[in-house]
Amino acid sequence: MAHYCLICGSQLQTKWIENREREFCSVCGWINYEQLKVSAGCRIELEGKLLLVQRKNPPFKETWHFPSGYVEVDEYPPHAAERETLEECGLVVSANYLAGAYFYDDDPRGSGVVLMYSATINGGELSLSDETLAVKFFMPDELPALPLAGMSALASIQDWLAEKKNG
Ligand SMILES: [Zn+2]
Repeated sequence: MAHYCLICGSQLQTKWIENREREFCSVCGWINYEQLKVSAGCRIELEGKLLLVQRKNPPFKETWHFPSGYVEVDEYPPHAAERETLEECGLVVSANYLAGAYFYDDDPRGSGVVLMYSATINGGELSLSDETLAVKFFMPDELPALPLAGMSALASIQDWLAEKKNG
C-alpha cells in the first residue's frame, strides 16, 4: 500500500536512514520515524485486592487488564492514567508514582509502552463504560486463572504479585 507525506502529500519512498529502512519524502525531505505508542494506566489496590477491568471489544475481547489507554499528544501521562480510569470504571483516582513501564508487541493496533502508576481512590463509583464488560477487585490467588489482555497486562500483574509476596 502506498503511503503519502504528511507534510506535502507526495508519495513516500523507502531508503536506508539511520540504521534501518524508513519511508521518506523525496520532495520535501520529511522522514517517517515510526515510534511506539504510549499508554498510561492505574494500579489500584484496596484491602489487598487489585482492580481490573474486562475489555468489551477486540482486540483482546473479554480479557482483563488494568484501567489504561493511549496518552494524548499534549497530555501529562499521570493525568492520562487518571482520565482513563475514570472513563473505564467510574473511579476518581490520584496517580501517585510510576510502578513500572511495560513494552508490548502483541497488539494488532501497534506496539507500545504502558506507563503503570500506583493510584489511590478519591471518589466516584465503580461503573461500566461502553468499552468495559466488567470491573472487579481480585484477590492475588484469583489472578493466575484470568485471561489477560496481552503481554503488558501479564507483566504488570506479575510485578504486583511479586511485590505482594516480598511484602
Ligand atoms: Zn513531503
